[in-house]
Amino acid sequence: MAVQGLYALQNGFMGAQRSLLFYGEYSEARTQIPVTCYVVRTSDAIILFDTGVAPRAVPGLMRNDPFARFTDEDLLVHRLDGLDLSPSRVDLVVLSHLHYDHAGGAALFSESELVVQKDEYAYAHYPAPFFAPFYYRKNFDLPGSRWRLLDGDTELVPGVTVLRTDGHTPGHQSLLVELPESGPVVLAGDSCYWQEHIDQERVPGVVWDPTRALHSIKKLKTIARLTGGKIFPSHDPVFWQTVKQAPEAYR
Ligand SMILES: [Zn+2]
Repeated sequence: MAVQGLYALQNGFMGAQRSLLFYGEYSEARTQIPVTCYVVRTSDAIILFDTGVAPRAVPGLMRNDPFARFTDEDLLVHRLDGLDLSPSRVDLVVLSHLHYDHAGGAALFSESELVVQKDEYAYAHYPAPFFAPFYYRKNFDLPGSRWRLLDGDTELVPGVTVLRTDGHTPGHQSLLVELPESGPVVLAGDSCYWQEHIDQERVPGVVWDPTRALHSIKKLKTIARLTGGKIFPSHDPVFWQTVKQAPEAYR
């Protein structure tokens, strides 16, 4: 087995209304949610899943969002330092999608390959008006960066497989990581914000196509059931407290 370890990196916290978290809810009540990234070490490659918010976005979030919390350690470069990694050591950066709280750090990885679904890449450049506030062009309009545009499920290296999970956005993707001791883990990205989205099959409130979003949740649940794996949601504050934080690893 080529996968050696999975590391959870915290990239700060922000606030979100319940109506943004759960499709069909109208509550403006806010919750503090973590912004999360993961590193996968394998014998073939070092892979980063998601890049959090851009450092330049932090001052604005801190000003406008009473639930925002970003420490110096939360900066992705500092989290990578904690693993003795510089951005140039990362071979592949898998972006679940190009929303600002997932693609914000992509610019750091000018020597890596950026892996995204081609439908996501296309849509992010020309989003519908209702979705435009979630896509900051500066995050992914990166002259000179190397992009690998996928079209569907793709094995990246042995034990690490991209799973297409669109619905939240037109080209959302998740990552299946087959760990030698802990077993398979599915990094859901925003196809599942919270554990409740998995257990109750609840669609995210920020959504491009709710029907496809529901089918993607069911797809991940089926894969997890068939492989004996576990789904890691992207923004669940309660789940996040149970996650081993880097430099500790899932092996
Ligand atoms: Zn999103």
